[in-house]
Amino acid sequence: MEVLLAQTAAAGAVLRSGVTGRRLIVERDGRVVGMQVLAEGVTRNIRALRGVVLACGGFIHNRQMVQRHAPALFDGSAPWGSAGELGEGIAMGSAVGGETLQMHEGLAITPIYPPESALAGIVVNATAQRFLAEDSYYGVLGDAIAYQQQGQAWLITDASSSFNFPQDNFLPVAEGSTIGEAIHGLFAAGRTVAGLPVAPYIASGFSVGDCTFFGRRAGIAAASEIPS
Ligand SMILES: Cc1cc2nc3c(=O)[nH]c(=O)nc-3n(C[C@H](O)[C@H](O)[C@H](O)COP(=O)(O)OP(=O)(O)OC[C@H]3O[C@@H](n4cnc5c(N)ncnc54)[C@H](O)[C@@H]3O)c2cc1C
Repeated sequence: MEVLLAQTAAAGAVLRSGVTGRRLIVERDGRVVGMQVLAEGVTRNIRALRGVVLACGGFIHNRQMVQRHAPALFDGSAPWGSAGELGEGIAMGSAVGGETLQMHEGLAITPIYPPESALAGIVVNATAQRFLAEDSYYGVLGDAIAYQQQGQAWLITDASSSFNFPQDNFLPVAEGSTIGEAIHGLFAAGRTVAGLPVAPYIASGFSVGDCTFFGRRAGIAAASEIPS
């Protein structure tokens, strides 16, 4: 910001804060020639010699606009953005004939880590199924939750991987002594239990890992069972 502000001053630009753009002023031929603003309670019309640049951010805090244009982001999201993101720039541009597109797109994030210990947990959807690697970049995880899981997912951790500090964006919903009891004496490996290369299949040879990786684990676990 220091560099940007220095460059702005060097270019001779005058910054005015506390000024709210209200509407664009257009000539009869449609050319934008100024803006009506509200500054310290006074409405002023400002003439623009060459044009007006709208840079009012997005519309995440205008919940009506979010509901109308990006319904997938409405229910499952906690709005996050600068307080002024009310869609006023988009509204002003639209009011003079500007077209909008991709209004349904948003950036959804689910930062379950740090702490790294949380990655030992699993993220499941409403049918209790995992749908993505938990250590995916938080934007990828957030996007999958917002657009493919109806905005809902649950992080299941054990005692050692649970957050050890208060989280205002991940609320605890349930606690139990264990999530799914083991059936003693039963083991499985290979495609009977899991396919590592779930679609799309991106690497030949990966499939053998199903039997070697899980086979080794199952074998070690079975061998260490106390005979009945
Ligand atoms: C918590 C948080 C963390 C982020 N972290 C990162 C990061 O690490 N890396 C990264 O690349 N991006 C990050 N971002 C995103 C990045 O900050 C935004 O994408 C970027 O600031 C968008 O710039 P903008 O100019 O479009 O809008 P903004 O920065 O929102 O600026 C728009 C401004 O216009 C003002 N305004 C609105 N309406 C009017 C009006 N009618 N008249 C006058 N002024 C008006 C608003 O008050 C606001 O000050 C983060 C965002 C948030 C909220």
